Amino acid sequence: MVEVLDARKQQVLEKGKDAYALVCEKPSTAGSVSQRACVFCGSRVVLYPIADALHLIHGPIGCAAYTWELRGSLSSGPELHRLSFSTDLREKEVIYGGEQKLYASLSELIPAYKPNAAFVYCTCIIGLIGDDVEAVCARVQKEQGIPVLPVHSEGFKGTKKDGYKAACEAAFSLMGKDELSPVSPFSINILGEFNLAGETWIIKDYYRRMGIEVTACLTGDGRVAELGKAHRARLNVVQCSGSMTYLAKMMQETYGIPFIRVSYFGIEDMTQALYEVAEFFQDPRILHQTQELVREEVSRLLPGLGKYRKALEGKKAAVYVGGAFKAFSMVKALRHIGMETVVAGSQTGSPEDYEYLKAITQDGTIILDDTNPLELSGFILEKGADLLIGGVKERPIAYKMGIGFCDHNHERKEALAGYRGMLNFAQEVYASVRSPVWKYAPARQAAAAKAAVPAKALRPRAEPGVLG
Ligand code: SF4
Repeated sequence: MVEVLDARKQQVLEKGKDAYALVCEKPSTAGSVSQRACVFCGSRVVLYPIADALHLIHGPIGCAAYTWELRGSLSSGPELHRLSFSTDLREKEVIYGGEQKLYASLSELIPAYKPNAAFVYCTCIIGLIGDDVEAVCARVQKEQGIPVLPVHSEGFKGTKKDGYKAACEAAFSLMGKDELSPVSPFSINILGEFNLAGETWIIKDYYRRMGIEVTACLTGDGRVAELGKAHRARLNVVQCSGSMTYLAKMMQETYGIPFIRVSYFGIEDMTQALYEVAEFFQDPRILHQTQELVREEVSRLLPGLGKYRKALEGKKAAVYVGGAFKAFSMVKALRHIGMETVVAGSQTGSPEDYEYLKAITQDGTIILDDTNPLELSGFILEKGADLLIGGVKERPIAYKMGIGFCDHNHERKEALAGYRGMLNFAQEVYASVRSPVWKYAPARQAAAAKAAVPAKALRPRAEPGVLG
């Protein structure tokens, strides 16, 4: 029986047993050790892939840890986003204010690196000492001649989702600047795609083959100039809905651009994403090219997938990711390789998201909102999962329990989007779940000893590879 804190009881349910609607979208419970990151981290995740902008973290140096080098957002050109600048505030600035240091930092960095825009991220301490960041940014913008944008991402002022909002507001203020450069009548913006391990390039290539122009990608392999003309695209295609639906709604209200929500993970969702865009344009040529593309990609993918399905049939998975939309795709993608999801949850899901997650999972599946490591590992053990899909904070949980792990977060170095990404996903899951290493994990050995059955007599949880 997994122990759940009283204050969290309604944020966990078992499908088929518990009839209540999952409680979500609330601040984390004190003492629960949430897996969520802070508001500032939410902003940084969204804006950092803009590769020709300067990203300056206004706060103590500790906030600037966990930089690009731990993340996989690639650029085809400038790589200024890989540098993590900080005003490195200390006791003196906490007492007397950090505005001078911010002004000095921007005045030194902008001429040195020549960015096309600068983002200034406000951290907790800025909210406390009350620096007038707007005024400093406005002054530097006037002096240096580039947009200098405050990002109000003080860590304490909400959840990671509030950080997404602050980032959307900053990105939005860069739009509407370019009315002249040509934009195709068959043009889209991709929102919430961060070019992890080059995934934006895979998706852009699909759209190119369909005859669709990608005006701007927010923010994978992003450029300031692209954002300036994004308001002239015909459709916004929102991939990471948790982070970018807010921006899509602002663009709809201001520029009249409709939006759709899609996912580029797994065969069904990838295909549906392409067809929905094709159908939006109502152009027979685009529809035909989409059909050709899907036929070609799926027929190339399926034979390769079959052998992994054979090796993974009957294995169980736990999925815990940032946004619930990705969890939906994972449940479906895992079925393609013979695996059922027994635990599924997210950091920032909405009531509608969890209803849908319930609808697509089997009875007995545990659904969790804003979980913590103790709960998560308890349910993984209770349900006998062989794999955990998550991010950098979930990786050690899996390894400590001696089960396979697949990184599906911003740190991943393997492209998992698109049809090619589905094959990479199957390969990665296979390599981890079937690795012989897990039988040597202390958790497995302890479980074997506790069961008081000779370890040799137990069916190993992770068998050696069978693909030869
Ligand atoms: S919670 Fe505050 S102090 Fe901590 S990393 Fe976030 S912004 Fe910085």
